[in-house]
Amino acid sequence: MAIRNLRYEGDPILRKVCKEVPEITPRIKELVADMLDTMYEDEGVGLAAPQVGVLKRIFVIDVGEGPYTFINPVIKEKDGEQTGSEGCLSIPNKVAIVTRPNHVVCEATDIEGNRFTVEATELFARAICHENDHLDGILYPDVAEGPVVDLDDLEG
Ligand code: ZN
Repeated sequence: MAIRNLRYEGDPILRKVCKEVPEITPRIKELVADMLDTMYEDEGVGLAAPQVGVLKRIFVIDVGEGPYTFINPVIKEKDGEQTGSEGCLSIPNKVAIVTRPNHVVCEATDIEGNRFTVEATELFARAICHENDHLDGILYPDVAEGPVVDLDDLEG
């Protein structure tokens, strides 16, 4: 268990396409445990491997229903629409309005190496789309509808 250093917008690693994970090794398990620690430490609802400098197709999400680990995820279905503000641990204290599918079906491998399918709506669906984008080097400002604004300005 360890907190890993976050990579921030401007770091070229966040713009790379991540590689598939061929097998769940002890190193992968350690990486996932560290990603969860790092996500909880920074009070995020999701974290993708490139955000801790690892170019592998892995992300973790906890929208309040307990942690999910997605290894080699594939979004199989998307439908509906939700429009709302979105942030990212790699772009601290900022948000922008992003429209995402309101419902997704995602298939992935879990930490035990088993393939699973999850159906997600609302925040969970948004998080899956956001984290999956990270694996292809896409950050939310790329798909935002409006400007990226400072949270302090919104609250101030
Ligand atoms: Zn993010």
